[in-house]
Amino acid sequence: MALQRKLREVGHWLASRAKPRCGALLYHRVDEPENDPFRLCVSPEYFAGHMESLALSGRALSVPKLQEHLSDGELPSGKIAVTFDDGYLDNLEVALPILEQFEIPATLFVTTGNLGQPFWWDRLANLILLAPNLPELLSFPSSSKSIPTTSKTRRELFDYITLELRQRAPAFREEILKTWESLIDAPSLAPQQRCQSEEELKRFAQHPLIEIGAHSVTHSRLLALPYEKQAEEIKTSADRLAKITGTEVTILSYPFGLRGRDFNGDTIAAAKESGITQAFAANRGVITSDSDGYALPRLWIHNRDHTAFQTEIDRWV
Ligand SMILES: [Zn+2]
Repeated sequence: MALQRKLREVGHWLASRAKPRCGALLYHRVDEPENDPFRLCVSPEYFAGHMESLALSGRALSVPKLQEHLSDGELPSGKIAVTFDDGYLDNLEVALPILEQFEIPATLFVTTGNLGQPFWWDRLANLILLAPNLPELLSFPSSSKSIPTTSKTRRELFDYITLELRQRAPAFREEILKTWESLIDAPSLAPQQRCQSEEELKRFAQHPLIEIGAHSVTHSRLLALPYEKQAEEIKTSADRLAKITGTEVTILSYPFGLRGRDFNGDTIAAAKESGITQAFAANRGVITSDSDGYALPRLWIHNRDHTAFQTEIDRWV
């Protein structure tokens, strides 16, 4: 699967060489936490370096402008849009002042089911990776399933449970986390390790450099849900965001975001039915006039200095 994805990526890279192409960068958090198991964070210093290099090269482009160019069929070459997924608080408190400093527009795709609250994967990481002691067995409530904790490293255990919980319904995940949180003595989550609240999001969305898009309600793998549920996840999240921001929300990024693994043709149909006009994936690649407007690839940016960032951008865009 990983090899197939890599081969598709190389094929995409080669095919994109001959055409005008733009890039959409995918960020999640701008922070330097003790614990970052999914490599979601870019340090404030490196993020400032990335934005400065975009500003100096004059390549920054907003997502609405990109959308305009795509529908006109006249894509400029070498332009780059900045996007964030999930809706973490540090996007407002840390990233926004840096975006302002370099006048870079950005789009934030927000999960609406836990505004003001931490995500389940951060709560889980806190328990499994940072608690000084774990019980010998972790039991799943209302089931006979239990996981021995001593035969794996903490990281292996965390990866195993994450995969397991990702497949489960949100209510089931919540029940497990609540139970384990009451059993395990773990340090508190960092206060900034949460989603923006409704009030904070409203403030963020009012900024002229910021545009808001939907990222579902529960951050589930949409293709694993029945069609009606997929449409509900997309529409409810877009409607809630429109209510908070006072602006219609017609763009989306798919949770987890890999085509075929996390979303499929049904999800795209559900997005269209929900009034979405453009959607981003997490598949690695650049955007050309041939790109599917409902599965636009992005370049996930990790915690690297501005030289490594520049090399990565130049290799692709
Ligand atoms: Zn996400």
